Amino acid sequence: MLKLRGKIQARNTSTKQSRMVHVTSNALLPSALRHNTALLIKGDQLAELTEELVSTLREAKPFAGVLLCGAEAALAAAEQAAAGLPDLYLLPEAYVYLEMGDIVRLNPEGENISVLFRKNSPNNSLLLTERCNQLCLMCSQPPKRADDSWLLDDAYELIRMIPPGTANIGFTGGEPTLHGDRFIELISSAKLNLPGTALDVLTNGRSFKSESFTAKLGNVRHPHLQLGIPLYSDDPVRHDYVVQSRGAFDETIHGILNLKRHGLRVEIRVVVHKQTLPRLVQTCEFIARNLLFVDHVALMGLEITGFTRANLDFLWADPHDYRDTLSEAVDVLRSYGMHCSVYNHQLCLVNQDVEDVYRKSISDWKNEYLPQCTGCVRKSECGGFFSTQIMYRHSEYLQPFTT
Ligand code: SF4
Repeated sequence: MLKLRGKIQARNTSTKQSRMVHVTSNALLPSALRHNTALLIKGDQLAELTEELVSTLREAKPFAGVLLCGAEAALAAAEQAAAGLPDLYLLPEAYVYLEMGDIVRLNPEGENISVLFRKNSPNNSLLLTERCNQLCLMCSQPPKRADDSWLLDDAYELIRMIPPGTANIGFTGGEPTLHGDRFIELISSAKLNLPGTALDVLTNGRSFKSESFTAKLGNVRHPHLQLGIPLYSDDPVRHDYVVQSRGAFDETIHGILNLKRHGLRVEIRVVVHKQTLPRLVQTCEFIARNLLFVDHVALMGLEITGFTRANLDFLWADPHDYRDTLSEAVDVLRSYGMHCSVYNHQLCLVNQDVEDVYRKSISDWKNEYLPQCTGCVRKSECGGFFSTQIMYRHSEYLQPFTT
C-alpha cells in the first residue's frame, strides 16, 4: 500500500503555513514557477547532491521546498550536503514513488506531508468532507461531526493545479453534497478548469430528493460527470438498516429519479456482504425493473477498513461461497440489457460466466496480491486485493490459474 500522508522532517523553513505545491525534478525550473513548486531529489539522485548543485540552488530564487527522499543513510548524507538550504524537507523512503507533476501539501509546522495528486495514477480522488447523514455498517470513512469545510477549500485549490490533460478524478466523502450549493459550485469549477476530465462523485444520493438542488447540478452541464450511488437492497427496511438511517431508501430512490430526469449519469453501486447477499438477486431485479435507465450497475466486493473492521464477522461473506449468486445477479442485469460490472473481486473466485463484466477496480495505492498469486498465469487480468483484505481477511479458496 502506498503511503499517501505522514510524518516528515522540516529544516530551515521560511514559513509555518502549510501549502500545496507541484513536484518537479527539474533543478533548472524557471524562477517564475518556483514559488509553488518543490524540487524532488530522491533515491540514487541523493548522491548527486554536489556542493555545486547546492550552491546553485542557494544563489537562485528558492523553490517552495526541496524534498530529499530516500533510505535513512543516504538521507542523512544528503541532509549534510544540503545544509543551509531554505525549506528543506526529509521524506522517508516510503515516498520514493513521488514523481514530477505530482501535487503535495507540505505542512512545515506539523512536519507532515499529504500526497494529493499523482500525475501517473488513474485513481486520484479528493476527499470533500468526513461528515455524513448516514452511518453505513461497512463505511470505509467513518463520519465525523467537526466542521471540515477547509477540505472543500483544498479541493478548489487542487482543481486549479491539476493539469488539464488528466483523464479522470473522483470526489468522495463522507457525503459531498452536504456542502449544499458550494458542492454545485465545485462541480462548475471542475468543468471550468478541467473540461476534458471525467468526474466521478460518490454520494448516497439523498440530497437529490430536492428537485431544485438536482436542477442546479443539471444546469452545470458538466460533460463527463457521473454520480455513484449505493443501493443495498430492494427491501427499504434492509437498505435503511445497512445505512443505519430510517427513510434513506426512499430518499435515495427519489434522488436517482431526479438525477436521471435532469440528464445526469448515474451508477448504482451494490456492496456484496452478508447483510446484502440474501437479496442480491432480487435487488438486481428491482434495479432492472424500476431503474432500467441508470447508466451502470457495479456489484462490489467488501473493503475491510473503517467500520467494516469492527463489523467484520457480521459482514464477511466468502466470494467463493457466493460465486453462483453473483453469477445469477449479473445474469439478471444482463438479461435486461443493463451495463454492469463486478468490482473488487479476485478473478479466481468468480465464475467464468461473469468474466466479461469483471473489472480490475481497486485503486493502485491500496492494491496488493498474495504470495501464492506470484505463479498465477492470469495475475495481470486479476484485480487482486485491497491491502486491508490481506491484513484482515480473505478467501481461503484461491486457485492460482496454471493455464
Ligand atoms: S491466484 Fe490469480 S486470480 Fe487468484 S487472486 Fe491471485 S492473481 Fe488473482
